[in-house]
Amino acid sequence: MKKHLSILGATGSIGTQTIDILSSIDAEVVALTTNRNIKLLEQQARALHPKLCVAFDETAARDLKIALADTDITVMSGMDGLVAAATHPDCDTVVTAVVGMVGLLPTLAAVDAGKDIALANKETLVCAGGLVMEAARKKGVHILPVDSEHSAIFQCVQACQGNPLDKIILTASGGPFFGKTAEELRTVTREQALKHPNWSMGAKITTDSATMMNKGLELIEAMWLYDLPQEKIEIVVHRESIIHSLIEFADGAVLAQLGVPDMRLPIQYALTYPARVPCKVPRLSLAEVGKMTFYPPDDKAFPAMNLARQAASRKGNAGAVLNGANEAAVGLFLSDKLPFWRIPELVAQTMERIPFVNDPTLDDILTSDREAREAVLSLVGAE
Ligand code: NDP
Ligand code: MG
Repeated sequence: MKKHLSILGATGSIGTQTIDILSSIDAEVVALTTNRNIKLLEQQARALHPKLCVAFDETAARDLKIALADTDITVMSGMDGLVAAATHPDCDTVVTAVVGMVGLLPTLAAVDAGKDIALANKETLVCAGGLVMEAARKKGVHILPVDSEHSAIFQCVQACQGNPLDKIILTASGGPFFGKTAEELRTVTREQALKHPNWSMGAKITTDSATMMNKGLELIEAMWLYDLPQEKIEIVVHRESIIHSLIEFADGAVLAQLGVPDMRLPIQYALTYPARVPCKVPRLSLAEVGKMTFYPPDDKAFPAMNLARQAASRKGNAGAVLNGANEAAVGLFLSDKLPFWRIPELVAQTMERIPFVNDPTLDDILTSDREAREAVLSLVGAE
């Protein structure tokens, strides 16, 4: 069935790979958004003829309007623009490929407007999984996972025949600092953190992969998507990123989804589900892979995973606090204002500071996010 897509974050790693697979599927683009990269957005708009283009940044939006003046494309800015793209009447599916908590309000608006969501933006479920999943249930819309691990689980789930999942096994590449001790992590640089061994991704998620917070965020994302407690989700380091994740049944049988590490397949499946069509991604050759390795995660050197487990057990606003603190700390690290090893430490300190809210409203979540970011800045400023 033809899809009518709004792509939020079209100029990023997931956004550009989504556009790359459009030629393999039956789809039309209704809206495209960026933060500031209007040069690329203009090129995409001229090729794809959307009805609406959005630059979140006001100045960029002004320049984009001038650049697209010879077209009949509407140009908007800010959160109003993101929400307009997410709820455009001609769109049926929203690809949420913006990075960070900024994806929450447009995702909620899209669900409310009855759009299916191809969900890459994991921060949305980490902050407000309860609200988003509840709204999706009420509206009867699909939340289709794009993240490779969650797509792998989703693909395995198709073979469940109604049997419940007993356990999820999330694979983790281990990132660029696999095998390093906590002591050695005190001297790593931004450049080293941004060199992921298997995946080419945006700077924020690449940093999260280096701290292993990415796997913690994915654990929370998996809890919401598959309705399992965190004790039922195991993390295993699998250096080659060929097995994208596994599920286990009550009898101990384990199913896995395998493939070369390339996001275009999970993106495509989110947009063609339940159908499968040929994909540009090279086929897997196990003989070429040779061997696959597995290790338990090192919680001592990489404490971020346990912080996420704590937030997952607490529920309430704890995910929003974890995520807000992490976004702020990663932002400081990426602008060379914080050493790498302080990222999880600041998240832990922030989680102790912000009051717990058991059954948070959207306002509570937005407040917790703001308070967590302020706490990180004040902890750093206080030194
Ligand atoms: P990128 O940084 O590559 O791209 C992010 C996109 O969001 C860009 O279009 C960017 O615009 C836009 N953006 C950034 N900040 C804002 C803002 N404040 N308001 C509006 N738009 C904004 O990120 P990725 O594509 O790597 O990741 C996107 C999401 O997908 C993340 O949540 C990530 O965790 C998740 N994900 C990514 C994977 C990957 O392989 N990359 C794998 C699995 C999940 P601009 O170009 O102007 O910066
Ligand atoms: Mg992933």
